[in-house]
This record gives sequence, structure tokens and C-alpha cells, in this order.
Amino acid sequence: RVYFDNNATTPLDERVLEAMLPFLKNGHGNASSVHQAGRRARQAIDLARQQVAALVNVQPSQVIFTSGGTEANNTILKGLATQFESATVAISPLEHPSILQPATALAARNWDVYRLPADSHGQTQVPEKWPDQTRLVSVMLANNETGVLQNVSEIALSARQQGILIHTDATQAAGKIVVDFSRLGVHFMTLSAHKFHGPQGVGALIINKSQELTPLLQGGGQEKGMRAGTENVAAIVGFGSACDYARQELSARQSHWHVLRQKLETALAQQDRVQTIGINSPRLLNTILITIKGLRGETSVMELDRRGVALSSGSACHSEYSEPSHVLLAMGIADEQADTAIRISFGQQNTVEEVQYFLAAFTELLDNLPPLLINN
Ligand code: PLP
Repeated sequence: RVYFDNNATTPLDERVLEAMLPFLKNGHGNASSVHQAGRRARQAIDLARQQVAALVNVQPSQVIFTSGGTEANNTILKGLATQFESATVAISPLEHPSILQPATALAARNWDVYRLPADSHGQTQVPEKWPDQTRLVSVMLANNETGVLQNVSEIALSARQQGILIHTDATQAAGKIVVDFSRLGVHFMTLSAHKFHGPQGVGALIINKSQELTPLLQGGGQEKGMRAGTENVAAIVGFGSACDYARQELSARQSHWHVLRQKLETALAQQDRVQTIGINSPRLLNTILITIKGLRGETSVMELDRRGVALSSGSACHSEYSEPSHVLLAMGIADEQADTAIRISFGQQNTVEEVQYFLAAFTELLDNLPPLLINN
């Protein structure tokens, strides 16, 4: 079987699993305990914190471990809201639901939510004028559906000039492009391990130390009081290890994806019914979002699944609803076209042979479309 749904989640790297196993088998130390087992857990977390920090070029003290990208995103929006009575939060309309939904919750609590403009190439624009009272702006670094890279440093510069705090959700960017927290000029950043061959259920919020933020979870004071709860040591160790490999192997992974994408896109360009979204924008090398004239995305996903290829229509997080993707709609793409989108996303494990296998299955699917489907 071919797995081309790596933006949904990636397979755990064997080497990362090896690093985690000792903490799953006999690592029952609580990192807050002073005995030897506790100290061993604490040391492992400290090392992971350094590894995560090195991936995005920050100090280890700026890393707060969370249960993943969703929690980090919620912490930012809700943690800042309690610092101010009411104000405006600006977000890109292309954000993941873990930003969109908390923003909607803020709107119910006297906050105004301002949606930044996005263009037809899938990029968020700097607004001509920031709404008064804007306290925070959140713009993702790479979009999970299109792979289009956002102009975060430009938006950060403009926001900072107005005294606005800036957060970037780098969940899809980390491990795929160079991510440098201070060069981006942001105050907060979200990371998640399972998008680059680490375990699911662990991520981090990166903070600019001077920034006030109310924790989402309070309790035993872990993570310097910023995120209470006994640490998931094995997952954190796996996250650190995945960051380490991603940092060392980034350029090799990029070259590999470049070869796969080139092969795929050259073949897709021959298909009249296929259009690649965001083709004129800088994009993640591992992500290709296409629309297919006359074939609903859901149907493509099921038909390709039958032929041994796993991928998703739009984003996996939305796939239980069969609504067209909000990302494509925000780019000005019509409902009927958006409804036909499928996303191919590579991981480090994918091969040229798998791209060939996919192309054969996909071509066969297109060639055998019943006329009704082709023409509607
Ligand atoms: N942000 C983006 C851009 C994502 O693609 C995802 C996952 O799909 C998330 C946040 C949520 O991350 P997690 O699955 O770690 O909660």
C-alpha cells in the first residue's frame, strides 16, 4: 500500500521508536520525583527540550511541551484573551480549525475577530490598516492543505510596528523547511511531533520569554507553571529525537521530495482535468493539492483507497464533514471546484516507485470515469 497522507500524520521513524522504548518499558519515573528514576526522566526531558529548541533556533527555556499543535494553538488564543478585557484578534482565513475554533470562542466573549485578506495564490496578505485594538495576529507558516508558505516575517514586521503580538502555527512547516523563530520575528510558535515522524499527542508552544500568557492547564506547576500535568516522557523523548533527525536530514529530505514532486507534477500536467493549486506560490516540497474536473474529492479518495493508495480530500481534519475546504474558498475557488480537491503529501519514507504506482492507479481511475461523472 502507498501512504500519501503525511500531512495528516506521518509514520513513526524506527529510530525515534528506539529512543522512546526504554521510557515505555521500564521508565516509570515521574520527572518531578527526586529519586533516581525521576532524575532519569527529568534528564531525558531536558535533552528533548534542547533538541526541539535546536530545530527552531531558540533557547531550551523557550520550549513548553504540550499535547500537540491543537493545545498550543488553544493556549495562545485563550491564554492571551484572559490578559485583556476585550480587543481584536487577527487571523488568516487559511488557518487550521485549532485556531479558527478558539477564535470563534473569543468572538463570543467580546473579542472581535478580524480575518486578514488572502489571495488566489493561497497567501495571506498584510492588511492595509490593522483594526484598532488588535492585540494578536495568528498566521500559519505553511498551509496544511495547499502547502503554500505564508509571508510570516513580513506580517510580523508590520504587526510589531503596531505593537501587536504575533503567533505562527508552524505545525506543517517544521521538519520540512528551515524554521527560525527569531528570524521570523514572531512572539509565539506552535509545533507538533507527528507531522515529521515523531509520535502523536505531543508538541510544543515556543514563547518569547518576556511575554505574559495565562496557562490553559493549571495544577502541579510543570513546564514552569505554563502547562500542568505529569509529563509524557516517552512522547517528549520521541519528539526531541524526531527534531534531531529532521534538523540533520532536512536538506536530504527536501532533495528527495523535490524528485518525487517533479515526477508527479510532470505527469499530472498531462491530465487536462487536473489543476494544481498554489502552483505559482512558494510551497512545501512534500505537498501537492489538485482539483479534478468532474470527480468529487471524496470519490477519488475512496477509489484510490480501493487501488491501494491512501490520501485525503482537502484536510483530514475536515474529512468527516463533506463541505468544501475553507482554505480553497478563501482563495476564491468556487464550491464546485473546491469539492474535487485531493491532497498528496509525502513523508521521508515515500519512493519514486510509489509515485509511479500512484500515477498508474490515478490514470486508470481517470480513464475509467463513467461519462456522467466526467461531464457533471
Ligand atoms: N495546525 C496545523 C496547521 C495542522 O495541520 C494540524 C494537524 O492537522 C494541527 C495544527 C493540529 O496539530 P495536532 O494534531 O498535533 O493537534
